[in-house]
Amino acid sequence: MSATAFMELALDQAKFALDNLEVPVGCVIVEDGKVIASGSNRTNATRNATRHAEMEAIDILLQEWQSIGLDQTLVADKFAGCDLYVTCEPCIMCASALSILGIREVYYGCPNDKFGGCGSVMSLHESLSSDDLTGSQDTRSRGFKCTGGIMAEEAVALFRNFYEQGNPNAPKPHRPVRVDQQ
Ligand SMILES: [Zn+2]
Repeated sequence: MSATAFMELALDQAKFALDNLEVPVGCVIVEDGKVIASGSNRTNATRNATRHAEMEAIDILLQEWQSIGLDQTLVADKFAGCDLYVTCEPCIMCASALSILGIREVYYGCPNDKFGGCGSVMSLHESLSSDDLTGSQDTRSRGFKCTGGIMAEEAVALFRNFYEQGNPNAPKPHRPVRVDQQ
């Protein structure tokens, strides 16, 4: 499967989020050419601002791998063979988590101008071996390869859709938004 084909699956996840009135971001994690986990943003449903699509997908794998008895080193080995496809550039929090977990490569759709951790605001995908926050073995950021701009227009269209349909949790917009019949 091509990068575009995996991104289409990530976009499906983003559409699922949109249908559930969540900010439409979705992702899939791929190992050996196969999707092994997917996630969509669930910050509203969980009332937890950290439940980004990437975190949802990562937690599926962590639970699975821990349940079959993989220790931290083996979990790290698994992540080193995985790629992530996400519709929007990972935020600072997610980019940092992905870097610590040591994911191999990240492909994203549109840039995240406000919170992007892969070049837009910070560059957490570039490994921080010397000026690492803690310097401890467990939390050393490994960095990852990162490619943006894959099906970016489709990802942006979903955001536009979301803000046009009106996000009940968003601050009031400066311009009137169309309100559908109730
Ligand atoms: Zn995030």
